[in-house]
Amino acid sequence: MSETEIILLVFALCLAIVPVIIICYLIIYNRHLKIVKEHSELYNDILLLNSSYNFYTDLSNLYYYVDCTSKRKLDNLSLYDILISKIDSNFNYFTDLLSKIQKNIKTYELYFKEYNKLSSKICEEKVKELKIKFKTFINIESKLCEKIKLNPKLSITIKIKAGYTSPKGRNSYSKDRTFQYMEVLNAYNEYLKLKKQKQEYSYKVRTERAKMSDSLRYNILKRDGFKCQICGATARDGAKLHVDHIVPVSKGGKTVDSNLRTLCDRCNMGKSDKIE
Ligand SMILES: [Zn+2]
Repeated sequence: MSETEIILLVFALCLAIVPVIIICYLIIYNRHLKIVKEHSELYNDILLLNSSYNFYTDLSNLYYYVDCTSKRKLDNLSLYDILISKIDSNFNYFTDLLSKIQKNIKTYELYFKEYNKLSSKICEEKVKELKIKFKTFINIESKLCEKIKLNPKLSITIKIKAGYTSPKGRNSYSKDRTFQYMEVLNAYNEYLKLKKQKQEYSYKVRTERAKMSDSLRYNILKRDGFKCQICGATARDGAKLHVDHIVPVSKGGKTVDSNLRTLCDRCNMGKSDKIE
């Protein structure tokens, strides 16, 4: 046999031996795994603990794409504002999503505490009976426990991308931002605050307008001599008289004598919501 032939033979033998070694290792490892699963109290304690905890699993990262109609619009676009508008148009979805994450975080805190309280109870004598090295048992046990430890989703990210492609696709521009969970949560709370402010504001405006009673209206007309306070027109001139808020209610004006005056419809129309 030549030297080359010997080398090839050794090489072929090695190639044949490697799978045998791997198979033997797997057989032994699986036997050990089975023993540990059967005799580890810790492993079974964790399985039991896992079965008493439920986490939401339908939480995934979100991605939104916004198509801009010009480069200028793309440049001026705030991706944070897009996030707020997505929260606005999918309000129930976001409320549900964020509350599920909050619940997962709270539940996980409890689970984590309980998980950390558990420890291996196996003793060396017992392991000897099982015909497996103590160190091997502990190693496999800790790996196994780490593997079955629940790992729920405790956050999400939202990626928002905006883009513009020039006519005929000559130039293409884009920008994007990934919002981390805390940023999304802050944006959501900011949105809620603004929504509440808007509601309070429209409630204030409604109640202020409702204060204008027929008797108050008559008193103001009488005080002003049934004359438009800008042009002096009266009902006799064919003018229709209104009682007007000098500072509009929408700008914080009150329904009180000092903020009311008589105007004809022409002057009133010209005034609209302006403060003079
Ligand atoms: Zn007038």
